[in-house]
Amino acid sequence: MPLPRGYISHSQIRTYKECPQKYYYAYVEGIKPPINEKVFLGEMFHAAIEKYFTLKINGTPLDDDSAAAVFSTAFDAACQEREIKWQTPRRETKERGQAFLQYFMRHIAPAVKPLMVEKELSVEIPGIDVVLKGVIDLVEEDFSITDFKTTTSKWSPSKARNSSQMVIYKYLFDRSFGPVQACLKYEVLYAKNAANVRHQTFSIVPAPDAVEKLLQLIGHVVENINGGVFYANENPFCRYCEFSGLCRKTKSP
Ligand code: SF4
Repeated sequence: MPLPRGYISHSQIRTYKECPQKYYYAYVEGIKPPINEKVFLGEMFHAAIEKYFTLKINGTPLDDDSAAAVFSTAFDAACQEREIKWQTPRRETKERGQAFLQYFMRHIAPAVKPLMVEKELSVEIPGIDVVLKGVIDLVEEDFSITDFKTTTSKWSPSKARNSSQMVIYKYLFDRSFGPVQACLKYEVLYAKNAANVRHQTFSIVPAPDAVEKLLQLIGHVVENINGGVFYANENPFCRYCEFSGLCRKTKSP
């Protein structure tokens, strides 16, 4: 079976590693379950900071009030268009998003010198004829690469260290523009409610064999997808899986 989207990406690799059957539902069947409010909030936050960085690159950055208005408008408009599963009520979710943005504007944005924002890159991986695609949140003038996360709980250092996302971005960047020395980091904003936003920065230094291991992993995942290997990998997180209803039905006699 060819790759359903014609390329492989970080989110496809992560989904397949988590559960091949989940990958099947999401990418082969193309089933789109309602989005949960945490993912939705992250998307709205990213939309607002993309606007901020784009205008900053053009020399007219948003002030705090304008950035808040961009977030609020995008949030309300998207609520009308999307099916969202609100585990936390809409008003509280919006307040938490506004608090993330306010924190970003005060403590992170002033020092950022954006060069590229939401930069989509794709390269063909030699040897396996597969296109790898990724969208980098932010590249700064010194070529540092940043990915922003919004979450309810703090990240552990091992979570940041073990994520292959930054290795993928660096590989895409180096293959697209030539290798450069660059700082790689995750900026993690976390809060359970609007009153208590905290922030972590994780600088990532990939191991010398990180790219080799990444390419091996991609080769393995692509080979399994091509071979139609989509078993159900039951795990403690099945209860949070957006396909759990479908999965149970598939298994019932
Ligand atoms: S419920 Fe569990 S086993 Fe079923 S698709 Fe989701 S992650 Fe996989």
